[in-house]
Amino acid sequence: MFGRSEEQQMLVVSIEGAIERDIEPVIESYEKDEPVSKSDAKAVLRTLSEQGMLGRDIPEEEGGAGLDHTDWALMFEQLPMQVDLLAMISSEVARTVHFTGSEYVRDTYLGPLLEGELIGCAAISEPGAGSNPREMQTIAERDGDEWVISGTKTWISNGEIADVAMVVAETEAGKTQFLIETDADGFHRERLEMLGRQYDHMAQLYLDEVRVPDAHVLGSPGEGLDRTYESFELGRANVALLGVKTARNALDDAIEYAQTRDQWGKPIGEHQLVQQLIADSATYVDAARLLAYRALHRFDEGDRASAESAMAKWFATEMAVEVTSNVVQVHGGIGLSRELDVERYFRDAQMLTIPEGTTQINKLIVARDMLGLSAFD
Ligand SMILES: Cc1cc2nc3c(=O)[nH]c(=O)nc-3n(C[C@H](O)[C@H](O)[C@H](O)COP(=O)(O)OP(=O)(O)OC[C@H]3O[C@@H](n4cnc5c(N)ncnc54)[C@H](O)[C@@H]3O)c2cc1C
Repeated sequence: MFGRSEEQQMLVVSIEGAIERDIEPVIESYEKDEPVSKSDAKAVLRTLSEQGMLGRDIPEEEGGAGLDHTDWALMFEQLPMQVDLLAMISSEVARTVHFTGSEYVRDTYLGPLLEGELIGCAAISEPGAGSNPREMQTIAERDGDEWVISGTKTWISNGEIADVAMVVAETEAGKTQFLIETDADGFHRERLEMLGRQYDHMAQLYLDEVRVPDAHVLGSPGEGLDRTYESFELGRANVALLGVKTARNALDDAIEYAQTRDQWGKPIGEHQLVQQLIADSATYVDAARLLAYRALHRFDEGDRASAESAMAKWFATEMAVEVTSNVVQVHGGIGLSRELDVERYFRDAQMLTIPEGTTQINKLIVARDMLGLSAFD
């Protein structure tokens, strides 16, 4: 991204205004690690809906925003971290409902998801199946024109407050994706406390013979895993931007601190080894951002971007871990204090190397695409 078009600049200015006016006052009423309430989450989503952030690449004539992935990402980069994953995942659920839902599911759920009246989550991971979703144990069995689903899903972002969950389960036809209402009989959930990104609504979901009508299958039975892998490609480029944002926010704080904190009679930013920490960090942030936008550009061209998005994801999230560590170092002792945001950025960055494929899994994808040889089999 070497510059923004006039249209992109207008999108960014518009979302910045909405954030300042409607979203920051909500977030500022919470402690720095505190998740926003469900009603505030919906208020935020309604604001983002007006900006087209929930409609993403769904065509305008079908209720979406008709945006390129790069345009959406430019807006996404502006979102406060407390609500970015909320918007990313709920809008991803809307996309999946639009592109794969039955007529009934689209008529019932798409509008409310696009308007921010419903919150979505995507449930693939299980206690025994993380990096390898093929090993999942959640099962769905047909019973007349319904499916009966049982299993446990874990580390589900938005899971604590979602109204609808996209759940992948094993069926006779293979892995299949379903849309489930979270107030269905047999559906329970429990918040998970994490090291970082404590403001996210992370939960474990329990499905005990949850019944859904046949129309709630997304795509066709047996397609669930392929669809999931395809959605991971786009998700990885967007998670890369979460890494970029985390590192960028931390770096901004480090620059300001290095300019204003004096030791040996001058700003610490004049000491050459502090300059090195800043120079390394600034270079890594820009490199990661370019990798993310290269992948997004390929999606805009209608291509897949398996290696490009895997490179962006592992590099940007490992980069965020390193940069936030550099930033704590630049701050000295106060960098470890709860008083400042930098300790939170450091904890938040650690969360990003795991989802949407761990660093190791993404490196295996890159190597597979380079070598034509897979370490997965
Ligand atoms: C912040 C966050 C948000 C998340 N959001 C969601 C969500 O919304 N929905 C959802 O379904 N899941 C979500 N997850 C879960 C996430 O997808 C899994 O945690 C991830 O896939 C890794 O699975 P695991 O934790 O079981 O680790 P494991 O798969 O058990 O891996 C443990 C370690 O072994 C390594 N490893 C595993 N296999 C290999 C291999 N073949 N070669 C080399 N190394 C290997 C891994 O890299 C890792 O270091 C989220 C997780 C986090 C942290």
